[in-house]
Amino acid sequence: DRARLRLPPWLKREIPIGQSYHKLKDDLRGLKLSTVCEEARCPNIGECWGDNKHGVATATIMLMGSECTRGCRFCSVKTSRAPPPLDPHEPVNTAAAITKWGLSYVVLTSVDRDDLEDGGAAHFASTVVELKKSKPEILVECLVPDFSGREKCIHVIVDSGLDVFAHNIECVEDLTWLVRDPRAKYRQSLAVLEEAKRYKPDLITKTSIMLGFGEQDDEVLQTMKDLRNVGVDCLTLGQYMQPTKMHLKVKEYVTPDKFLHWKEVGDSLGFAYTASGPLVRSSYRAGEFFIENLIR
Ligand code: SF4
Ligand code: SF4
Repeated sequence: DRARLRLPPWLKREIPIGQSYHKLKDDLRGLKLSTVCEEARCPNIGECWGDNKHGVATATIMLMGSECTRGCRFCSVKTSRAPPPLDPHEPVNTAAAITKWGLSYVVLTSVDRDDLEDGGAAHFASTVVELKKSKPEILVECLVPDFSGREKCIHVIVDSGLDVFAHNIECVEDLTWLVRDPRAKYRQSLAVLEEAKRYKPDLITKTSIMLGFGEQDDEVLQTMKDLRNVGVDCLTLGQYMQPTKMHLKVKEYVTPDKFLHWKEVGDSLGFAYTASGPLVRSSYRAGEFFIENLIR
């Protein structure tokens, strides 16, 4: 089956871009901050950058370089066995730039750095520390690698003062071998989320599943249950989109109705929120959802 599926109409919609977007975009100039939102040309940029009900601006920043030691088959980040060393000034500089920029909620994420002894955990954590030092009211979500399951690395991240600990399970268990780098394991990702919660029970944990790899409904349901069983608070579900011809093909375009169904299932399983829709990405309107569902 070499034919590619045709893009369904719900993925072709116009992307609304409003005033807040233009303001943030202007302010970003000269800050030397590169966002995943822009680099990935994310379709949600208008909504995330403040054109939403609460006017909360969310953006995602990638740390630790642009070369990953892993090679997941859905991901367009470049793979390298030996990426350049970390920039020791990155935590301070990134924190300063984010502070100046005026976001309410920032998602810090990174490539996987299996070449580093601590997977980059200390570097990641010190970015959070610097950021909270210069802007205590900013909400920080860290979307972290699995650190090969090393608990110490997870603790370093949790101790940084972050608000949300996120790690993506990406897909159902039986497709993990196909979708993710062989070093990434479904059970290991569950264990990472479980350990963060065990270590600090009031910390909010979050994960994301992509659909469209050929998973069955019962597998999606089981994954959602597995996530709730390890105490995961927030869940996002979105459509997998093939970034280039070299990447894994889309098996199915899941309908908006089906995404709505998964949202209802998520609500009934007790997630604090389930963001589910064809264009949802793991950081989709994260600040807004946080304020709506998690401020206690
Ligand atoms: Fe992409 Fe993350 Fe996989 Fe690296 S570990 S290839 S950045 S999804
Ligand atoms: Fe940026 Fe994530 Fe929102 Fe896309 S979904 S615009 S990457 S914050």
